[in-house]
Amino acid sequence: LFISKVNLYQFISEVFQQAKINTSNKQITFINKTNDVTLEVDPDKFKQVLLNLIQNSIDAIINKGIIELSSKINESSISIYIRDNGIGIEDPENIFDSFFTTKISGTGLGLSVSQKIIEQHKGTLKLISGEKENTIFEIKLPLNN
Ligand code: ADP
Ligand code: MG
Repeated sequence: LFISKVNLYQFISEVFQQAKINTSNKQITFINKTNDVTLEVDPDKFKQVLLNLIQNSIDAIINKGIIELSSKINESSISIYIRDNGIGIEDPENIFDSFFTTKISGTGLGLSVSQKIIEQHKGTLKLISGEKENTIFEIKLPLNN
């Protein structure tokens, strides 16, 4: 890993700009409710994780929806939540398995690769809610200050 300091709120703003390119004709509202806080991450890998999760949210929205990123600072960690109001998770048991996909041209690698990257950062990536119209993933990272 090539660790450097990034501002979470600014980082998410930039990732949103990049994610917006792939929304095709969908009307998606991106909401950034993350904290103005410094994280120590590998920026390229962390960006890859966020883009994977956001792309899954875009894919889950049929034509109009919301993708919201928020965060919560705990005693020695930060939780980052990626929420969408799309179709929900069909098969929550298997989504983190390599090559598991429910998409016609999916690779099934986004979540498994993302989970490995977050684990390299000594964090966790979990599904919190797979409900229709309320799908939430959590990235939890250690905070060292
Ligand atoms: P891929 O996107 O190539 O299918 P991923 O590993 O990124 O592979 O995701 C695996 C599967 O998890 C998806 O095919 C989909 O069924 C499910 N999934 C992931 N994120 C979401 C989401 N936000 N809403 C609904 N389903 C999701
Ligand atoms: Mg994916």
